[in-house]
Amino acid sequence: MLRSVILAASRSARLARLVETTPVSRSVVRRFVAGTATDDALRVTRQLVSDGLEVTLDHLGEDTLTAEQAQATRDEYVRLLGALEGAGLGRCAEVSAKLSALGQKIDVRLAVEHARAICVAAAAAGTTVTLDMEDHTTTDSTLEILADLRKDHPDTGAVLQAYLRRTEADCRELATAGSRVRLCKGAYDEPESVAYQSALDVDKSYVRCMNILMSGEGYPMIATHDPRLIAIAEDRARWFDRAPNEFEFQMLYGVRPDEQRRLAGDGYQMRVYVPYGTEWYGYLMRRLAERPANVAFFARALGSRK
Ligand SMILES: Cc1cc2nc3c(=O)[nH]c(=O)nc-3n(C[C@H](O)[C@H](O)[C@H](O)COP(=O)(O)OP(=O)(O)OC[C@H]3O[C@@H](n4cnc5c(N)ncnc54)[C@H](O)[C@@H]3O)c2cc1C
Repeated sequence: MLRSVILAASRSARLARLVETTPVSRSVVRRFVAGTATDDALRVTRQLVSDGLEVTLDHLGEDTLTAEQAQATRDEYVRLLGALEGAGLGRCAEVSAKLSALGQKIDVRLAVEHARAICVAAAAAGTTVTLDMEDHTTTDSTLEILADLRKDHPDTGAVLQAYLRRTEADCRELATAGSRVRLCKGAYDEPESVAYQSALDVDKSYVRCMNILMSGEGYPMIATHDPRLIAIAEDRARWFDRAPNEFEFQMLYGVRPDEQRRLAGDGYQMRVYVPYGTEWYGYLMRRLAERPANVAFFARALGSRK
């Protein structure tokens, strides 16, 4: 119930403007977001890499409604990838991009063109792109664009959401040699017709999907903070004889940082998803929806107005 209310609020443009312009305590946003500028993204990337972690950088923004905004998003990714290359960070840091930020909802061809330009810049920087997955109305379009991009850039990563009923079948399709697939639970408010509603059903689906990916030929990216699912992934890696460089764990910046370091210390590849930019509202609201304890933290910080 609370989750649905927060997720509904996450789609309100009016509320976004209000919250983004409130002199909110910097600490609340900084806990989950690297900062607003390219330099902030680089600074946090360097810190994490020096701790033995890998990174995927997300320039915040989604549901772009103008061609100019979509172009600006593409330009920022290309600038970021150039900066990563210049800093010699291409080996440890890739990028995650949302097709809706690249214009998917105004003109699919435009989004494909922008995504292709980002893939070219990533290849030049010696790294990769992963296409984030958004709400279920975009799944088919996103997977079609992925297939198109993979013709020239086969290392482009996919994201599949365990809460969708279709995802087991998508895992089977995508568990092919060289295919990078991030498996997450899913962060949007989806109807029962397409998505499992109970936490237990989502977790069971996650395990079924993980079994397909870990026993398949692709490269699974296990994106979760859930201790039970992490333990099951460690078990499956042993069971299916996957060496530590044949899959990776992924977690969000600011969430369970001690566990991130524990996994890296145990020899696993651990990639941290690091968002940056000014449009942090929708991202932050989805994090609040996942964990009610964060709502109290956010409310206290708003009240303190630091
Ligand atoms: C790298 C990455 C990329 C993602 N990309 C996408 C995407 O493209 N599309 C999409 O829809 N979603 C994406 N997500 C979000 C994802 O779908 C989930 O909404 C989010 O990860 C929360 O799910 P969870 O698996 O961590 O489990 P949850 O059910 O949220 O948490 C399970 C358990 O994890 C522990 N836990 C969680 N948070 C904390 C915390 N702050 N402190 C301590 N313990 C905690 C608790 O024990 C909790 O019970 C991504 C997530 C990650 C990590």
